[in-house]
Amino acid sequence: MIEVTALTKRYGSLTVLDGVDFAVQAGEIAAVVGPSGAGKSTLARCINLLEKPTSGSILVDGRDLTRLSRRELRSARRAIGTVFQSASLLQRLTAAENVELPMRYLDISHSERVARVRELLERVGMLHRANHYPSQLSGGQQQRIGLARGLALKPSVLLADEPTSGLDPHTTSSILKLLAQLRDELRVAVVLITHEMDVVRSVADSVARLHEGRIVERGSVAEVVRSSDSELARALLPLPPGPAPRRERAVWRLRYERPDVDPAWLTSVGRELDTDISVLAGLIETIDDGGAAGRMTVRIERPLAAADVRAAFAARGIHAVQEGVTPSGEVERAEPVERGERERAGREREAVERAEYEPAELAAEREPEAAEREPAPAERAERRAARVRSAA
Ligand code: ADP
Repeated sequence: MIEVTALTKRYGSLTVLDGVDFAVQAGEIAAVVGPSGAGKSTLARCINLLEKPTSGSILVDGRDLTRLSRRELRSARRAIGTVFQSASLLQRLTAAENVELPMRYLDISHSERVARVRELLERVGMLHRANHYPSQLSGGQQQRIGLARGLALKPSVLLADEPTSGLDPHTTSSILKLLAQLRDELRVAVVLITHEMDVVRSVADSVARLHEGRIVERGSVAEVVRSSDSELARALLPLPPGPAPRRERAVWRLRYERPDVDPAWLTSVGRELDTDISVLAGLIETIDDGGAAGRMTVRIERPLAAADVRAAFAARGIHAVQEGVTPSGEVERAEPVERGERERAGREREAVERAEYEPAELAAEREPEAAEREPAPAERAERRAARVRSAA
């Protein structure tokens, strides 16, 4: 496993990594994502010891790599294999010779090297191309060789720096399948640096978002997409383009909070609330834990109390937020305040205050049906708002 603690890297006065912490267990693929300039490559160079961190520690299998002498470092480096972007093989060497390269100057016998190269080529499905040169191989085949080379010294950590960039979707998918297979068979800890969210979604066990040298969000892919509407969550599970967002109370944004949301919720919520529900945009996917993740925009066609709508969705493991309404329940203003609005707002406030303190009997006189039962607080607020609207 690898454990990075308080890793900081400065170039002069520029702090590129600022107290980065993360750990990757054996048999786990941890993705690091972030925009260009966030510090991903610097983090990769610090992990594979091409750069010396300014401070912090990098523990691989319990050994702090930042505290080793130059000689110790050479052997410690074996614990970390690296896979670079595609097409990083040496062109004048065959596939087998490229895989053998990391073993060449170490104290490993010829026969041992030959056996190891064979085993690795077989593992990545490339034994039949052992004597081909990179120019005779497709991009995907070259990256298979790249993976075999990264694993040559039996590392416990595999650093994969944008391993699928430049590959077509089909090849990307086959390389990611291979990466997952190697993780499971060899129990290697994989640090996957990428900017492709599809890659994260399809293969990563956990994800950390690097922003200006700091990790600002992290978690398992499932946790991130189900527990919040954060920037990372929305990037991992983007809502496909639907109609332009309209700030109307009938439009709701939904997010699956549980892996086992019943796909028949549309019908069952509609029945419970006695309303039609129109789906305006949506994405539902099966993610790494085998459960569903979903994000959707719907319109509830019958006017209903917000609390009832929220409760009906919550009972089915779906988080629902009204379009254009802040968490405190206020309606966001889509347009700037118009002339005369201020006075109207004042009148509304007055009406709300009056309703708040109005004795129940007086309210009953005005709205007989309202006094029949003691309404729940959320319902009271709804009614107050309705009264305010009719007063205005
Ligand atoms: P990313 O890989 O996320 O695009 P980098 O790690 O390449 O980010 O770069 C992060 C920041 O560090 C950038 O502002 C970059 O200019 C700066 N940087 C990277 N390497 C050096 C260096 N050797 N000297 C000075 N600044 C550097």
